[in-house]
Amino acid sequence: MGKIIIFSAPSGSGKTTIVRSALKKFPELVFSISATTREKRGVEKDGVDYFFITEDEFKNKIEQNEFVEWESFYGYYYGTLKSFINSKMKNGKSVVLEVDVKGALKIKKEYPDAVAIFIRPPSIEELKRRLRDRKTESDEDLQKRIQRAEMEIGYQKYFDYVVVNDDLERAKKEVYEILNKELNTED
Ligand code: ADP
Ligand code: 5GP
Repeated sequence: MGKIIIFSAPSGSGKTTIVRSALKKFPELVFSISATTREKRGVEKDGVDYFFITEDEFKNKIEQNEFVEWESFYGYYYGTLKSFINSKMKNGKSVVLEVDVKGALKIKKEYPDAVAIFIRPPSIEELKRRLRDRKTESDEDLQKRIQRAEMEIGYQKYFDYVVVNDDLERAKKEVYEILNKELNTED
């Protein structure tokens, strides 16, 4: 059986950047594609970054019990698909999940062997700067993300590892070391 590796972080911390490089470095990892009702950003692709679906479709999946967990924030729904992660794990793949902090705790409850990694920005000021520079959200969405960040940082104590994303290369290296250790332990 493969393992579950969860990455969580306040929006703008650099989680996607780090996860993308880890997926390249560790071919035994597959990314869990979540479903969401938010709009696609410029470079994102349906069925690659997310399954972009309507609110009605999302609610239907909730009713059909298709999610391991789902959350609603910033006015959108996000959910982890049971079928997706279970089929990959059965095939011996380890699955990387990029979910919010509450979703991470729900996954840990369902899969106690899951490894949870929190990516922390060096400061809230730096987080704001990165989000503004990324230029992918409206001012309103940006405000919602910044407001939620402080609550999310309070959840770091529940994680197995906390990696500060100050210098990107250093942070990536730290994550690779964690993955090397966790993916190579037999249990
Ligand atoms: P998240 O997935 O957590 O929302 P992203 O990976 O999209 O965050 O990163 C947010 C922005 O910050 C992106 O524009 C990214 O290029 C940039 N970034 C990521 N890590 C660093 C870093 N260590 N220093 C400076 N900028 C960074
Ligand atoms: P974004 O809109 O920036 O892609 O993601 C916003 C937040 O939603 C991030 O914290 C991301 O990790 C989280 N997220 C993405 N997919 C899921 C999911 O399936 N479940 C939960 N709970 N959060 C998710």
